[in-house]
Amino acid sequence: MDRLIAFEAETGLLTAEAGLTLAQLLDFSVPRGWFLPVTPGTKYVTLGGAVANDIHGKNHHVAGTLGSHVTQFELLRSDGSRLHCSRTDNPDWFAATIGGLGLTGVIPWVQLRLKPIVSRRIDYEGIQFHGVDEFLQLTEQYKDVEYTVSWVDCTGTGKNFARGVFMLGDHSKIPDDLKPSPEPKLVFPFDAPAFALNSATVTAFNTVFFHKQLKPRVRALQDYEPFFYPLDKVLHWNRMYGKSGLLQFQYALPWQSAREGTVAMLNEVAQSGLASFLAVLKAFGDKPSPGMMSFPQPGITLALDFPIKPDRSFPLFDRLASMTLDFGGKLYPAKDARMTAAQFQQAYPQWERFARYKDPLLTSGFWERVTAA
Ligand SMILES: Cc1cc2nc3c(=O)[nH]c(=O)nc-3n(C[C@H](O)[C@H](O)[C@H](O)COP(=O)(O)OP(=O)(O)OC[C@H]3O[C@@H](n4cnc5c(N)ncnc54)[C@H](O)[C@@H]3O)c2cc1C
Repeated sequence: MDRLIAFEAETGLLTAEAGLTLAQLLDFSVPRGWFLPVTPGTKYVTLGGAVANDIHGKNHHVAGTLGSHVTQFELLRSDGSRLHCSRTDNPDWFAATIGGLGLTGVIPWVQLRLKPIVSRRIDYEGIQFHGVDEFLQLTEQYKDVEYTVSWVDCTGTGKNFARGVFMLGDHSKIPDDLKPSPEPKLVFPFDAPAFALNSATVTAFNTVFFHKQLKPRVRALQDYEPFFYPLDKVLHWNRMYGKSGLLQFQYALPWQSAREGTVAMLNEVAQSGLASFLAVLKAFGDKPSPGMMSFPQPGITLALDFPIKPDRSFPLFDRLASMTLDFGGKLYPAKDARMTAAQFQQAYPQWERFARYKDPLLTSGFWERVTAA
């Protein structure tokens, strides 16, 4: 179910089956001068998956979530009924299904509004920062730039604590030929052995990443692929984590506790010695999502990747989850494997209202866990 159904070249309104990947969508739309209104950090996800998690991107502070740009879709229920959903047609089903974790039914097709571009390139700037306060200052200073995101070194302690690179960009206004993307050439060839990612290699990676940018501030015109999808360049990059794989952790903290909570949690990660290979820090804006269960809220979000080591990484995850709740925050269901029922129900009090829209024949491991009595 990955066919394109319709495209209006004048308005950028695109309708496609929900199995179309964002990579396929961009292959079609970029040469025609249109881009995704919101994109996650990989293009290898489907439209249906992106709607079901109401994904956010580097432009959340100006564009909100993907759901804000979805105009309509169909919902197929297990009783065979088909609901046409938009802001005016079955609006409650529209709200429940955006960010509805695939639990309200199957989405056969989606329509969304793309945004016009004249170039593949991004007018990019990278600025080194030291500490959460500098990150927050840069966030405020560049709040009108379309894309902002930061990589943060969460192995750093002392003067290196929470150092990072604040990355910002806008679509270049200088027209180019909008060529299609080349196929990725690099492939991670095998599952890395368990010892490959340890605190020494991860610390070394973070140090190299920080110093890769030799000057405190660099500007460049960069293709959109490395800007939005740095990991996609290496197919099967996840093999780097070995056979047991990786677990992500992502929180959103409200502005009142964002600074204090982020410092506390980065400290917790640094002290644990279970360094995260990739840590991404970003501000969420205040554009409300149409999705009832949507994750983003105004404040700060931090996403961390850890190799799975049940005896060590699970207790750390559980500590970070409790801290998130204590700071008045919430965890991202799309990335979660550990949240308890009490934590979910505290952070998503609307869950009982949402449960009324759940398809009786659909469930998931996540849902069973977070609604367990
Ligand atoms: C490297 C990487 C970077 C990422 N960066 C971001 C990011 O920046 N921002 C962000 O928000 N997320 C990010 N994610 C998470 C990712 O965008 C979401 O998990 C997304 O939902 C995955 O979509 P998928 O097509 O792989 O769906 P799956 O993982 O297969 O499914 C995800 C959910 O969607 C439901 N679903 C899928 N298709 C349909 C359908 N047709 N109808 C109804 N329900 C459906 C499934 O039931 C499931 O609940 C990232 C993930 C990776 C691996």
